[in-house]
Amino acid sequence: MSTCPFCVLNEDRILMERGGLRVIADAYPVTNGHLLILPVRHVVSFRELSDSEWREVLALIKLWTERLTAQDPSIAGFNVGINDGEAAGQTILHAHVHLIPRRAGDVPNPRDGVRGVIPGKASY
Ligand SMILES: [Zn+2]
Repeated sequence: MSTCPFCVLNEDRILMERGGLRVIADAYPVTNGHLLILPVRHVVSFRELSDSEWREVLALIKLWTERLTAQDPSIAGFNVGINDGEAAGQTILHAHVHLIPRRAGDVPNPRDGVRGVIPGKASY
């Protein structure tokens, strides 16, 4: 698995490591502060995470949403999402959760958020 970019991360990219999970900055952030939460061990799908890893994912989402909003008062919300499988847009085949800060006006019409993964189906 040495070709997996999430298995060979540079130490300086790791913001936190705890409970078998890591928090890193997205290499191509869609908004300022876009983070990824991923298991240290290589698994392709989030469906392979253990119960304890899931609890840690949720704890890290809570911790980092609090941290980011404390650092940046312009953050008014978050999208939290998983691209699971190539059909769903997963490009790095090492499970990861996106934590994407949102700010008022960052897109003209934010209505329905992650529903927008299928173009034209978000607003109804
Ligand atoms: Zn990996």
